[in-house]
Amino acid sequence: MTIEGVCPVCNTTLPLTDNHDQPSRRNQYGHMQKDYLLRVHGPRGNRCEGSHQKPKPWLEASGLPGWEAMSDADKGRALMHAHKREWEGVKYAVEHYPCRYVDNPLLAALSPEVAGTHAERVVLAVEDGLSDEEFDRLIELA
Ligand SMILES: [Zn+2]
Repeated sequence: MTIEGVCPVCNTTLPLTDNHDQPSRRNQYGHMQKDYLLRVHGPRGNRCEGSHQKPKPWLEASGLPGWEAMSDADKGRALMHAHKREWEGVKYAVEHYPCRYVDNPLLAALSPEVAGTHAERVVLAVEDGLSDEEFDRLIELA
């Protein structure tokens, strides 16, 4: 499987590589591993400055609306699905508890897989800042 990312400099979608001279880090399983970075690209002699840099964050690269632009009902659905992914695993959650957005037409048109990834990313970015009351209020709407 090739992992792809979008270059923040030239906006091209490119395969990522761990073949670069930056140091390895210990991953969550304790193994030494290099970050996946954008491969070298651009014409010889004028390489893109995004070469061997981190790709754009998923949400930014997707161009989809973020948390601030979502309705409360869509936020509740994102929260519900993101927590199902945590508790039941990604595959099971997408199959049995897909994230079905209702208000934003861009979000409502997404496939269950992409909607699920979107939900995970937007929730990850905000959940530490959500009060319990706000969390409960939004989940109620899902
Ligand atoms: Zn580039």
